[in-house]
Amino acid sequence: MSSPSAEVNQASQVATPGRLCAECGLDNPATARFCFCGHNLVAPPLPPPPVGVGGWLLFLCLQLAVLNPAVIGLQVAADFQVIVAGGLLWSRIGMMALLDATIRALLVLAGFISTILLFKHVPLAVRVTQTVLIASAVSHFLLVGLPFALGVPEPGRLHIAGAYMYRAAQLVLWTGFWVIYLSKSRRVRATYGGRTPVGERR
Ligand SMILES: [Zn+2]
Repeated sequence: MSSPSAEVNQASQVATPGRLCAECGLDNPATARFCFCGHNLVAPPLPPPPVGVGGWLLFLCLQLAVLNPAVIGLQVAADFQVIVAGGLLWSRIGMMALLDATIRALLVLAGFISTILLFKHVPLAVRVTQTVLIASAVSHFLLVGLPFALGVPEPGRLHIAGAYMYRAAQLVLWTGFWVIYLSKSRRVRATYGGRTPVGERR
């Protein structure tokens, strides 16, 4: 009398006469778990990756095209309200705020362009978006030096530099997250093409 598990085992052996390797084509015995070439014969194939702008990628596009412009717009408006109210528009602080706003507006524009390329499924979109994200983080750190470069007088200088530093530090977190996401995501690879990393089929 054979145990139930042995019967199940036998039944499965009968059901699968041989395991053809999807990788090298070798006809392996039905009990083989791995092919001679190293291919896993029992692992189910990966489901096809999602394609197109959706999921986290859609969230990144919303961040680039809606959230960032809104946040930057509000920050710039608040800065200028204080500057105009203090009669500082034609001072070094006014000039600094204007330069800061111009550079950040250019970064917003670059974010819009990235979003359009991502939605159009342009293969270069991923590289462009990663570059824009990194350029944005680097620019925000360079802007910390702006009050020093323009000779903004104390005590405002350190206060402004501190606020700029805080802003730049916040950016680093999400920049890092999105740059890694863009290089690892199966959706991104399936949508824009790119090399399959080592150790992952498809
Ligand atoms: Zn094989």
